[in-house]
This record gives sequence, C-alpha cells and structure tokens, in this order.
Amino acid sequence: MTNQTPVLRIRNIKKRYGDNEVLNGVSLELNRGAIKVIIGPSGGGKSTLLHCINFLVGLDEGQVYLNGTEIIEGRKRELTAYRQKVGMIFQDFNLFDHLNALHNVMIGPVRVKKLPKSEAREKAIAELERVGLKDHMMKYPAQLSGGQKQRVSIARALAMDPEVMLLDEPTSALDPELIGEVHEVIRGLASGGMTMLLVTHEVGFASSLANEIFFMEEGKIVEQGPPQKILFNAECLRTREFCSKISRLHNNSS
Ligand code: ADP
Ligand code: MG
Repeated sequence: MTNQTPVLRIRNIKKRYGDNEVLNGVSLELNRGAIKVIIGPSGGGKSTLLHCINFLVGLDEGQVYLNGTEIIEGRKRELTAYRQKVGMIFQDFNLFDHLNALHNVMIGPVRVKKLPKSEAREKAIAELERVGLKDHMMKYPAQLSGGQKQRVSIARALAMDPEVMLLDEPTSALDPELIGEVHEVIRGLASGGMTMLLVTHEVGFASSLANEIFFMEEGKIVEQGPPQKILFNAECLRTREFCSKISRLHNNSS
C-alpha cells in the first residue's frame, strides 16, 4: 500500500431490486482524510450505495477495496473485520432502545472486538465524551433528544476505531435546532482526519466540509467536482436544478 492507495475504492457497483436498476455502475475513491458528499433526489440510490459499500445488501456487480484489498462478501471473517473499519451512521440512529447510551456504545467492542468489559466501558466513555454526552451515558434512547441519539450512534461507530465513516443523511430526521450539535461532532471528526462519505442536503455544511461533491441520480453519478462548482455552477442542467432547490431549502444551515 502506498500513500496514494485510496482508503476506500468502489468500482462499477451495480444493484437491482427486481426490475428496478437502483445502482447502475457507480465508482468512487476516498483517499485518507477525504470528505466526499453525495447529493441527489430521493430514490436515486444514495442509501443503497452506502448499504452496498458496507455489504448490508449484496452487490450484483462491482468491487469494494479497503486499502487496496478487495473485500469478498463470502469471506465472513474478512467481512466482519472490514465492517469494523467502516462505520455506518443511519438517518434514524438505529440504536438499541433497551440499552442505555453507554451499553449501546459498548456492545460492538464487547461482542465484535471481544474487548474485556472494563476496557470496552472505558473506550465507550471516552467516545461518549468526545461527542459531548458523558453526562448522559446512563440514559436510554427514549430519554435522549434526536441530536443526542445521533451523537450516541456516532460514538458507537467511533468505538470500533473505523478508518472510514459512511453517514446517510445523519441530520435529516432532526428538528432544525438539533442539527448544529451533530454537525459540530462531524466537523470535529473531519478536523481529526477521519475519512468520510456523507449523504447530506445541508448545503452550507457540505460546501464548508467536502473536498468533492457527487450528484447522483437514477443510480449513477451524473456529475462530480468541488463544492462551489457542483452546488452553484454545475454543468449538467439536472444538477443545477437540484442544487438550486436544495440551496433555497437549506441556505441557513451551517
Ligand atoms: P435514496 O437514498 O437516494 O433516496 P434509495 O437507495 O433508498 O435512494 O432507493 C433507491 C431505489 O431503490 C428506490 O427506488 C427504492 O424504492 C429502491 N429500494 C431500496 N431498497 C430496496 C429494497 N430493500 N427492496 C426493494 N427496493 C428497494
Ligand atoms: Mg436515502
């Protein structure tokens, strides 16, 4: 592996559900520390792409490489190791409701990494502190706000020491006043050098954070480039139309 080897590389991913061709040959690369944002209309395949990258759903065609090594879905042990290195953040948090914040964060290190409980607990507390939730760690999801729940889910991913994080509209289920606290945590990860692939329609946030933006529609990356170009000066008419729509909606977000 050289410095130029992308941390994550996906090549020509295709996925269909029945007759619905959801991903129609998607390729992209993330170098270490890169932050790339995917935007595009609902139903365009953004979530499916992230799910395919993490093998939450099987690919029909294409390859996924971590640090230059192809990940083969059938090799269960390698897949488990890979999933530890690729953290996933979902729109609706996906926390265990019957576990408090601390145990939600501890469960991966205990079950998957096989850390001793005391070590997992220490790690979980450190990650909860990093997302500003140390004082709330004994609370259950029902006792937390949406922003706090999403921060627990980020702490849970961090507890596995991921090399890459995939974030699928992490703030779209939140009330507007709670978006900022989650953005702040993601900015902290960015300044710590985390490699991230992020689906978001928060224009201000995306343009201040991303190295590159992909516009995805009907299972394809239609256009890609620096944030200012894609968001405000795209070549493709569809990209321009979409971006002007989301800019009007989100022009106050940061
Ligand atoms: P986006 O995240 O861009 O809104 P999705 O990846 O969620 O798009 O969905 C893309 C398309 O795939 C949609 O037409 C959706 O209905 C279809 N789809 C997604 N998941 C499934 C599934 N599990 N079974 C069948 N169709 C699905
Ligand atoms: Mg989606």
